[in-house]
Amino acid sequence: MKKIRNETQKALIACPECDLLHAAPELDSGDIGRCCRCDAILFRHQLNGLNRPLAFAATGLIFFFLANLFPILIFEMNGNMQVNRLIDGAVEFLDSSYWMLGILVLISSALAPLLVLLFLIGILLPLKLGVTPLWPETQIRMLEHVRPWAMAEIFVLGIMVAFVKLGDFAEVNIGLSMIAFMCMVAATVMAYISLDQDILWERLALVRGQKR
Ligand SMILES: [Zn+2]
Repeated sequence: MKKIRNETQKALIACPECDLLHAAPELDSGDIGRCCRCDAILFRHQLNGLNRPLAFAATGLIFFFLANLFPILIFEMNGNMQVNRLIDGAVEFLDSSYWMLGILVLISSALAPLLVLLFLIGILLPLKLGVTPLWPETQIRMLEHVRPWAMAEIFVLGIMVAFVKLGDFAEVNIGLSMIAFMCMVAATVMAYISLDQDILWERLALVRGQKR
């Protein structure tokens, strides 16, 4: 396999709507670039394109640990109380004949969301400190691979459905963990929205250049 060199070092941006190539101009924070042919948005130069996602990812990680400390749902039926933690659903499946479903739930509700946050912090925190992250290309690639598996928001939806449906048979209460989990989902989404990939690669090149 051969790496293709960008001889001009001038980045080209393809329009997501009509595929027209544009030479990437020098941009200031907050600028929005539009296609000269179809007016589609080519890029948004985010304000604090690295600091904000780092802050959101760190917040998400704190909420992830809080979500695992407290009960997520509390059932009460005929005087019997059952307290469920976040991990209990996956563990129940793993102990039964539906173990494959258990693995899927474990990956999509806990492992993948955690890895997404760890990769984001693993890339952004060293850049913030002015040092090269460990294996940055691998971490960025892994982030893109893991991201589709992180379906924490679907998990929240599932719990809300269970909460409504089971409410007819038993007294169901939402635990502190549920609020922390929803905050983690929101923080992760905000980290992605505020992340500016262009600034990320620019900062990476800058940090590496300083090292040489
Ligand atoms: Zn276009």
